Amino acid sequence: MKILLWFRNDLRVHDHEALFKASQQTSQVFPLYVLDPSIFQELAMGFPKTGNLRTQFLFESIENLRKNLQSIGSNLIVRVGYPEEIIPTLAKELLIDEVFVSEEVTSEETEMDTLVELALKLEGIKMKFFWQSTLYHLDDLPMEIENLPNIFTQFRNQVEKSTKVRSTFPIPQHLSFPENVEVGALPKFDFPRASQHSYKGGEDEALKRLEEYFWQKDLLKTYKETRNGMLGLDYSSKFSLWLANGCISPRYIYEQVKKYELERTQNESTYWLIFELLWRDYFRFVALKYGNKIFFEKGIQGKAVVWKKDKRVFEKWRMGETGIPLIDANMKELLATGFMSNRGRQNVASFLVKDLQIDWRWGASWFESQLIDYDVCSNWGNWLYVAGVGNDPRENRYFNILKQAHNYDEKGEYVKFWLPALANIPAEKVHSVALLTQEEQRKFSVQLGIDYPKAMIDIRKWSIKNK
Ligand SMILES: Cc1cc2nc3c(=O)[nH]c(=O)nc-3n(C[C@H](O)[C@H](O)[C@H](O)COP(=O)(O)OP(=O)(O)OC[C@H]3O[C@@H](n4cnc5c(N)ncnc54)[C@H](O)[C@@H]3O)c2cc1C
Repeated sequence: MKILLWFRNDLRVHDHEALFKASQQTSQVFPLYVLDPSIFQELAMGFPKTGNLRTQFLFESIENLRKNLQSIGSNLIVRVGYPEEIIPTLAKELLIDEVFVSEEVTSEETEMDTLVELALKLEGIKMKFFWQSTLYHLDDLPMEIENLPNIFTQFRNQVEKSTKVRSTFPIPQHLSFPENVEVGALPKFDFPRASQHSYKGGEDEALKRLEEYFWQKDLLKTYKETRNGMLGLDYSSKFSLWLANGCISPRYIYEQVKKYELERTQNESTYWLIFELLWRDYFRFVALKYGNKIFFEKGIQGKAVVWKKDKRVFEKWRMGETGIPLIDANMKELLATGFMSNRGRQNVASFLVKDLQIDWRWGASWFESQLIDYDVCSNWGNWLYVAGVGNDPRENRYFNILKQAHNYDEKGEYVKFWLPALANIPAEKVHSVALLTQEEQRKFSVQLGIDYPKAMIDIRKWSIKNK
């Protein structure tokens, strides 16, 4: 018996059902990663579908998977090309009996699956799918997917009442890998690392981060109070970076939370991390329920909204040159690091769609290109919500950006970190830099329109509401 294990967004060896089950059936497991060139295509807006930082993180994750497979006696075959061509050819060459793969939900992936499955069928080879991306297993949901509640809280209540998180699968102890198979390599990719602000891909780094966040720094016990922060590494877990490629399993995180609750403390914060992972699950199930509607202009609601398609305005937002410090600092952070806090994402997304009224799908596409933790369901799902075309209209909120800035960056430390031109402005004035008089601009060594952009909208609408 020979099994080809096609890795996609599941780049780990721990809690990997397909890997574990394959190893139980045979020692002849051939792990494979196919680097599909279409993920790098240039989008009509003039930027690539997968940006440099995400590419770098992905490559690191693949290299690390190879290392971890080697440590259990196996290896990772890497090929560059179209999966529907590579997989059937390789399967035939290696005399494969069955192909194992993770089940995905969105159309690019599922259409690919159909093509691969058809081509394999012609060779008499079966393809077996494993659901392994969420905390709660699809088959354990207390409702059919068509009946998934449109309101998150209803989903959460039902799931928490009647469903258990399955246990994790152990790492296989030993596999073998034939010497005569050409393993292949990733293309060279030399992108200068963004020094202190960079995150490294791979299962080892993911597990290291959990060890640090939970056990060394003991940060889980205060997560609920810190999670809305924006500056630094430790206000939130940063697990999304590794969850996106499957370098860490949500069930493993869950087990570690339970262990932490037993050994250290159990409180609202420890629960809240699981609560947030449930949002992640929810968006995946929403994508399964609604299919391609999550990408449509009118969204899941089919609601007609007139969106502006002004490239010039969009470019200012994208480059962090709106003249609104909270927005610009977040967009600069995204550009430099490929990450942005949840608080930041809510604000920049709301600003784009509610204040600038730009097509929400443009914003979602930029996030797709830039975010290292890009997850098709979480990204498009969250954007739908912010744009007010998601499935729960009560989530359709407007953010007063100035109020948000005062609440979440009271001392202006975050904006000053990413926008050094604002360094000398006192905290109480830094978020409304657009209102500085000529004299103040001289005093604080910032000239609007030269050192920092003039605001692209009149920010007084927020100050008035704010008082
Ligand atoms: C417009 C917009 C786009 C987003 N795009 C993505 C995306 O592409 N990929 C992504 O993983 N998250 C996305 N999010 C959700 C959220 O911002 C990130 O998951 C979070 O900031 C990641 O940081 P963390 O791991 O430190 O989060 P923590 O606060 O430590 O949360 C733990 C985990 O819970 C999950 N989670 C938390 N908040 C959300 C949420 N709102 N939706 C779904 N899952 C959540 C994530 O898996 C996260 O890693 C988006 C949010 C918005 C508003």
